[in-house]
Amino acid sequence: MLIEEIRRLEMKLMGQKPTACSACKGELLYEGGGAYRCVKCGHVELDAFGKVKKFLDTNGPAPSIVIERATGVNKKYIERMLNENWLEVYKHTELGDQGKK
Ligand SMILES: [Zn+2]
Repeated sequence: MLIEEIRRLEMKLMGQKPTACSACKGELLYEGGGAYRCVKCGHVELDAFGKVKKFLDTNGPAPSIVIERATGVNKKYIERMLNENWLEVYKHTELGDQGKK
């Protein structure tokens, strides 16, 4: 799956993305995996997906209710992400498929 497709679907699923840097209001560039980097100061903002992904990277698999409490992300988004294997798709994308078609 192409990065662009993943990103587009992610946007549709999550509908929650940061629009400006919380530190300096600078423009954000999408870095992948739900993370956005400020072009001015380098501060990284996470969208809902990024927060959940970070939680799972740190803590391993957990029930959606636990993830909801930890990240503040609505459980229904988390469940969709888990059901649709978004995290697996992302892992593969980031580990080796980046830059390939
Ligand atoms: Zn900034």
